[in-house]
Amino acid sequence: MGFVGLQEYASIEGALGSLFGSGIGIARMDRVAGGDINEAYRLALTNGKCIFMKANRKENASFFAAEAAGLAAIAETGVIGTPNVLCAGTDEEGAGRSFLLMEWIEGKGRVKDYWGVLARQLAAMHRAETRNFTAGGKFGFSGDNYIGANGQINKVYGSWTDFFRECRLEPQFRQAFRYFEAGGRKKITRLLERIEDILMEPEYPSLLHGDLWSGNVITGSDGKAWLIDPAVYVGHAEADLAMTELFGGFPQVFYDVYREAAPMQPGYERRRDLYNLYHLLNHLNLFGRAYLPSVMRTIEEYAL
Ligand code: ADP
Repeated sequence: MGFVGLQEYASIEGALGSLFGSGIGIARMDRVAGGDINEAYRLALTNGKCIFMKANRKENASFFAAEAAGLAAIAETGVIGTPNVLCAGTDEEGAGRSFLLMEWIEGKGRVKDYWGVLARQLAAMHRAETRNFTAGGKFGFSGDNYIGANGQINKVYGSWTDFFRECRLEPQFRQAFRYFEAGGRKKITRLLERIEDILMEPEYPSLLHGDLWSGNVITGSDGKAWLIDPAVYVGHAEADLAMTELFGGFPQVFYDVYREAAPMQPGYERRRDLYNLYHLLNHLNLFGRAYLPSVMRTIEEYAL
């Protein structure tokens, strides 16, 4: 997927020379722990600056184009911190790996009310204008992207429930088909038919981070929470909130302040697990059977 405005380079040296001046190169390269898809590095440059680099196989260059497009969309809302992308490329002249360079983020300390500030900023992001992201439609995104290492389809839809069924649950169920017995498959069909009865159309479409768990929140240079590694699309803000609850949750103050800033439609708790079924299915497809019991529990919860 191409991304307008993203400069692509054929070597890391070429990229650094063009970004920082000829002769500027890598003085030191340290691996950063934490990511599960890409290799991450802190590059200390010969001019004293530090930048962040992600690298992957050449074939996965599209991961980085999609990530850059997602970070640019978040940045465009202007209400929440996210790293500034410097460039992407494939190191044809070196190891042949694709890379993404961005600003190095290192918060020295957190602002007071860190989670409350994040909640207000996320609510503002969810209220931001979305017209630029969906090519005339209401939900979806201008290009497909990734959720983890799995593809994420983002066609443009006028209905949130149709979008969620056809671009989120159905593709994951198709990929996971082999895990289910005949009885389970029937329940899945029933569940997909009933989505309109469970989900609601939102009051307004929202740009979503799309993969909002604590590992994708880091402290920025201003001491506030910044968003990294997004899987953006325009959808119902509730789906972002639901995801924050899937792996441990954020502190309670985050939810209290979010609800004050952006009142939620009644019945969110009944919809939450259906949103998260998408992520559980994605984990089932990426990491295997260990996720099947939680997928089945969610299906049972809705397919009575
Ligand atoms: P992956 O795509 O493999 O999931 P992440 O985007 O989660 O990788 O990044 C891996 C780790 O690198 C994160 O957990 C975070 O701590 C760190 N990181 C991500 N972006 C930056 C950045 N711009 N500056 C400094 N550290 C970063």
